[in-house]
Amino acid sequence: MIFRKRYPGIPHNIYDLALIERQLAGEEPSLQEKLAILNNLPKSNIKIDFAGGDPLSCYENFLVIQEASRRLGKEYISITSTGHSVNRIGIGRLAETIGEFEFTYDEPREDKNCRPIGYNASNLVIAKKFAELGVKTKAQIPIHIGNKDVNTIERLYEDLNIANIDEILLMRTFPVGRGESFLRKNKIDKITLLNVIDGYTQLSNAGKTKIRLQCALKHLYGGNSKNPCDILNTSFGINYQGKLLLSAWANNGNGQPLSDDFILGDLKIEGFDFISNKLKFKNIRQRLDENKGHCKIFSYQYGGKNFESLFTKTDPLYSMN
Ligand code: SF4
Repeated sequence: MIFRKRYPGIPHNIYDLALIERQLAGEEPSLQEKLAILNNLPKSNIKIDFAGGDPLSCYENFLVIQEASRRLGKEYISITSTGHSVNRIGIGRLAETIGEFEFTYDEPREDKNCRPIGYNASNLVIAKKFAELGVKTKAQIPIHIGNKDVNTIERLYEDLNIANIDEILLMRTFPVGRGESFLRKNKIDKITLLNVIDGYTQLSNAGKTKIRLQCALKHLYGGNSKNPCDILNTSFGINYQGKLLLSAWANNGNGQPLSDDFILGDLKIEGFDFISNKLKFKNIRQRLDENKGHCKIFSYQYGGKNFESLFTKTDPLYSMN
């Protein structure tokens, strides 16, 4: 490895050095290319959540976050982080840059079923500090076998409520990425999900921390309202290569798109308007309601993993009787 210093006055960590080496090898976009992505996004009416891995592990990411905040306004910028490198950047500086801090809190601090020891506890410590500085805070709770029982729900809610966390986002665990095989083996059924949601809702009626459901859970309550899957209408993913993806969840265990089916364009070199005029984009958008309510990531993963399966009613949660 060639050791190069790029950011004056900033102690470089191994992630910075790895990024520099990968950029020199042409394996990662340069800072200029990342800023070009910002140029190619719509100029207003958008919110960006920077997520990882951990978006703060490389200092260069902070420079991009800072620039996005300068252009859009900090209330339109959030990060989903473990708090990695918060001290290096300075929590006050970060609080001036972001409008919201999102973090995972999916097991009580003393449990260690699914996460490394201390993972959840340290996330909460950092989130509490952001809350004290007036930054909005959101705990993401992917519902899984390690946190579905009543006692765990009560402990998680109490921790978050005491820490003055504004909101809990209840989520599904997606059968993608490194955890795909584990999650396929340990599916959470509809009744369990409904019980978990009810548990949090009851607690939030008496507490300060409010509950929100992720789009992929909203159809549990059925109804004829608008399709809760907001893919291509209000949400997209952008991966580390600057590719515009149908969804931020559409990545495999190597951090690559699940398949070319999910790639809409390259924001390093194409404007959002140009991409949204492509036939593929228009075609998908026209077909969104063919499997109304089904999460298209699940439909794809359980429906044959081909383009057509994006539109099949094969999200197991909604195809179960
Ligand atoms: S594909 Fe799933 S996660 Fe993505 S917007 Fe639709 S329901 Fe939400």
